[in-house]
Amino acid sequence: MTTLSFEFFPTKTEEGTEKLLTVRDELAAFNPEFFSVTYGAGGSTRDRTYAIVKAIQERGIAAAPHLACIGGSKAEIRGILDQYKELGIDRIVALRGDLPSGSGLGGSELRYANDLVEFIREETGDHFTLEVAAYPEMHPQATSFEKDLENFVRKVKAGADSAITQYFFNADSYFYFVERVQAMGVDIPIIPGIMPITNYSKLARFSDGCGAEIPRWIRKQLEAYGDDSDSIVKFGEEVVTDICRRLLDGGAPGLHFYTMNQSEASLAVWKNLV
Ligand code: FAD
Repeated sequence: MTTLSFEFFPTKTEEGTEKLLTVRDELAAFNPEFFSVTYGAGGSTRDRTYAIVKAIQERGIAAAPHLACIGGSKAEIRGILDQYKELGIDRIVALRGDLPSGSGLGGSELRYANDLVEFIREETGDHFTLEVAAYPEMHPQATSFEKDLENFVRKVKAGADSAITQYFFNADSYFYFVERVQAMGVDIPIIPGIMPITNYSKLARFSDGCGAEIPRWIRKQLEAYGDDSDSIVKFGEEVVTDICRRLLDGGAPGLHFYTMNQSEASLAVWKNLV
């Protein structure tokens, strides 16, 4: 069975939240396994992440908060886990996170995602299904591709149940990553993270930051469209649908959409596939 999940980021205004709840309802019609909600490392969105998670969960749809350990203490993280348990949450996306540059480690007691996974298991046993992040094109700060694979395996062995990848536009990078970590003993599902293409400059900025490569042929085409956003959306839908089809045909167990709090682009791709 193909799993489907959608990712949101916490909104800043009441109006934004109202809009997001409409988006949630539109996406809920496609029976996703869960909606995940990002978390600002260092706790900057702690309350807003919680509020969105609560609003999703109250509609009877599973919500999976992201939780980043960098910049936080064990006591803070324990408090957040308690809050989520009380709310009936049973899935967490466990991350190291990125602090804004120049802010150092900010008193982190847990330095890497594997430390967080281990801590959550110690504190809460098997209560939470734990998702971790995977980087088919290598995490941008990794010292080497091989070391990054080892570090991924480390967090799986610490107790992760499933992984979601950073987005990518090259299906082979996903298949190669999966093959390599499976050969290292990993047998959890690795769900490709899918970024719909709707705006070239935003996508280029994002991709530079997170180390996702936009292949030259896609970049050149998007650049050539300039301000013609209809063409960008149409081309983006074709390209992303094609990648998803290849991923699913090649055995990917599901898809996780980075929705950017919008429903149209993710749904357009999903509808092409089902
Ligand atoms: P880790 O797995 O800890 O890896 C971080 C780096 O350290 C890698 O280079 C790795 O090779 C290395 N490493 C790992 N373990 C060790 C170790 N034990 N010893 C030495 N080196 C090690 N960021 C947010 O701030 N909030 C979010 O909500 C958020 N959601 C995300 C969701 C997904 C699906 C993905 C893919 C990313 C998300 N991110 C989020 C971004 C993520 O936090 C950053 O990419 C961050 O830099 C790494 O987090 P991680 O959990 O992958 O870290």
